[in-house]
Amino acid sequence: MKIEKNAVVRLHYSVAEVGAGPIEDSRVGEPLSILVGHRNVIPGVENALIGHEVGERFEVTVPPEEGYGPRHPNAIQRLPKKVFQKNAVLKPGEVVMIQTREGQRPVVVHKVGMTVVDVDINHPMAGKTLTFDIEVMEVRAGSEEEIAHGHAHGTGGHTH
Ligand code: ZN
Repeated sequence: MKIEKNAVVRLHYSVAEVGAGPIEDSRVGEPLSILVGHRNVIPGVENALIGHEVGERFEVTVPPEEGYGPRHPNAIQRLPKKVFQKNAVLKPGEVVMIQTREGQRPVVVHKVGMTVVDVDINHPMAGKTLTFDIEVMEVRAGSEEEIAHGHAHGTGGHTH
């Protein structure tokens, strides 16, 4: 079947800033599983999937407006060290995950103090034009339950 709204797609992807090496590559692990049409991924990637089929591999270039949005200046926030995972590398320029009410999100370490860390809360890929290399591994219709939840279940998706 062709990918359409409410299809569950398993895909491998790598993403790079235009003209640079990959920032992220899903091939280090299992393919990602998403439910199309429910904003599980950035709009530029979701829109590019429509109409493709299993086995296809293609590239799409996504501007910030369809990706992670523009960079906000003055997005530095001071956080207590305890919000970071114990194994987090707290060095300027490092991307680390923090726990927020909406779940985990990546931030970039700006400055490290004794008990606090200043982080840039812009998404690390905000303001960047990104090229995604996408390979469609599996396509199936989403179940009623998945559509009601707004995400894919099973391997590579939500398990609950
Ligand atoms: Zn669910």
